[in-house]
Amino acid sequence: MDDRCRALTMQRESIISVHFAIYYSCLLWYLVNRGWDMPLVVTLGEAQEHEFRREVAADDDRKAGASRLPYFGSEDDPNVPFATLNKHDSGRYSGVHFHRIDQFQVVVGGRGMIGRHPVAPLCVRFVRAYTPYGPVQSHSGLAFFVLRARSEKGSLHFPEARQELERVPNRHPFQVTRPAVFPALRDDADVVEELVPDLRDEHGLSVHTLTMNSDSTTVAPDPSRGAGQYALVITGSLLHNGAEYDPLSLVYIGPQEPRLPLRAGATGLQVLILNFPRTHSTSVMPFAAGPHNWRCTWCGYVYEEGRGSPEDHIPRHTSWEKLPPAWTCPDCDAPKGDFRRAV
Ligand SMILES: [Zn+2]
Repeated sequence: MDDRCRALTMQRESIISVHFAIYYSCLLWYLVNRGWDMPLVVTLGEAQEHEFRREVAADDDRKAGASRLPYFGSEDDPNVPFATLNKHDSGRYSGVHFHRIDQFQVVVGGRGMIGRHPVAPLCVRFVRAYTPYGPVQSHSGLAFFVLRARSEKGSLHFPEARQELERVPNRHPFQVTRPAVFPALRDDADVVEELVPDLRDEHGLSVHTLTMNSDSTTVAPDPSRGAGQYALVITGSLLHNGAEYDPLSLVYIGPQEPRLPLRAGATGLQVLILNFPRTHSTSVMPFAAGPHNWRCTWCGYVYEEGRGSPEDHIPRHTSWEKLPPAWTCPDCDAPKGDFRRAV
């Protein structure tokens, strides 16, 4: 990069920083003054007003640019919820990394891979704090929400930050990705609610799909069981406090707030409800401990010999010894040597 190009880049970054600081200051002022007495709602159109681009330099190994639409959050205050819609240009590559707090990701556009798992619209992921994942690859304009119950600065890259992981006491790495499938309406019900399988634990983690007939009403699940709740409009519209909210409008409901009233607009409503587990959530995906299962010491992925590794076309009943030495963790790309027998 020559000096002129570097100067332009720095200028652009400082403009983005100032823009972002002003936006977050206004949002923080609003959050402080509203007194947390009602749910916070941001529409796609409002988030688009603050959209900013990150171009990619020729020597950047991320290979392509990205846009970010800020919904909620403040880098100045870790205690407010944080939500963005990230749009990655085709070909963008983000290396393996982790965060210090729990997060959901909800894919709403394009296609890509997270680790070696294909993702497409309405894949929902929960990734616990201190669980490495990736790389994240956009094959065709991957767009996904990042939802956190609190704000956090940046991410830590792996394996450079592995010493930080090693210092975390009582770490319980956990991540799970499942498609959210909305139930069909039945003749005898205006509202149908289902739980997304496996995205749940005994500490309040749960994800619900709700399909509602036009003009029908219900209430969202109780937010007090967990550490915060998001409601994401997928299709139709949500009527709330005299306003009508279109697809990709996002509502945050704190654990102290009452259950969110849900009223569908004239074309019905499909809404995704995501509940964060309380801070001390420690559960992991159930698996049969035994001499034929091997667990990634970094991210918690379990290689079960009986299952093989479908992501890599490794057939069922492939023993650990027969697994190629170059095979790596499908969730975090750790080498085979970082696995231990899961007993
Ligand atoms: Zn792993």
